[in-house]
Amino acid sequence: MCECEAIISKEDPRYELWRQVVPNAHLPIKHPIAKNGFYEGDPSRLTEEQIQLIATLCSKKFNITKEEILKDIRKGILPIKAENVSLSICDLHIRCMV
Ligand SMILES: [Zn+2]
Repeated sequence: MCECEAIISKEDPRYELWRQVVPNAHLPIKHPIAKNGFYEGDPSRLTEEQIQLIATLCSKKFNITKEEILKDIRKGILPIKAENVSLSICDLHIRCMV
């Protein structure tokens, strides 16, 4: 199973939001490849509590309803802007990167 993580830099304004959800703002991603400047977050590796928290925080931040955000997350959609992000690449994916 993939264990890749996107690590949001402490310098990035998003750090404060994400560190409330996951320790040290280390977010699970599906694979270490950015598409159109975004990594694909992996909601299946988040708890229900974390998902609810993301929806609450992002709802305030982006001024969209919590329900709308939850709907996307339930579909497995959780885009993470690649800017100011470093990666921790899992054993499964490190072989594809060489
Ligand atoms: Zn991986």
